[in-house]
Amino acid sequence: MAVKKDYKDQKLVEKLRDRNYYIPDSNPEFIKEVEQIGRTAAHMCYQCGTCTGSCPSAPRSSYRIRLFMRKAILGLEEEILTDPDLWLCTTCYSCTDRCPRNLAPTDVIMAMRNLAARRDIIPRNFLKTTQLIYETGHGVPNNDANRAARKKLGLDEEPETTHKYPEYLPGLRKIIDHYGLKERADKILSEGE
Ligand code: SF4
Ligand code: SF4
Repeated sequence: MAVKKDYKDQKLVEKLRDRNYYIPDSNPEFIKEVEQIGRTAAHMCYQCGTCTGSCPSAPRSSYRIRLFMRKAILGLEEEILTDPDLWLCTTCYSCTDRCPRNLAPTDVIMAMRNLAARRDIIPRNFLKTTQLIYETGHGVPNNDANRAARKKLGLDEEPETTHKYPEYLPGLRKIIDHYGLKERADKILSEGE
């Protein structure tokens, strides 16, 4: 929030945090960036709530897609990108299917996750998946138990993918390297240890 209480005790800072919104809290460019990445006219949202009513994550958590839409339009970048609820969307697309304004709240969330990731705010499982894809070409690679099961079924131990044709891995790694994703995943994961 804009008005910072400068107490020494961090717990007190959080407890007495100013919960009002002020104009300097808003970055008007934020919604434009989100719309550009998400390819949806998020600012057309009129807060009907159909999205939250459709959302499988909402009844089980504090995640509210409608609230994220509102905050995005208000440009509350800091608050959104540091909110752990941002990662509770399952990307089921129910909200996108039902929005009466033909918006894609799912894509708004994905755009905002991209922006959070650019700031190194990203759950560890995404980073580990990046490492696995880099190493094997798979987010969920084959393992010995599966190889044995495949053999029993009369299948080759390795499927017709990069597991069997690792010569395709360098091409895949080139794409990942182009965006610096593996390097970044390694760096963030090692810092967290
Ligand atoms: S369903 Fe669409 S218009 Fe309604 S609150 Fe959600 S995003 Fe906004
Ligand atoms: S796509 Fe995400 S926000 Fe939309 S209904 Fe599904 S879980 Fe909820």
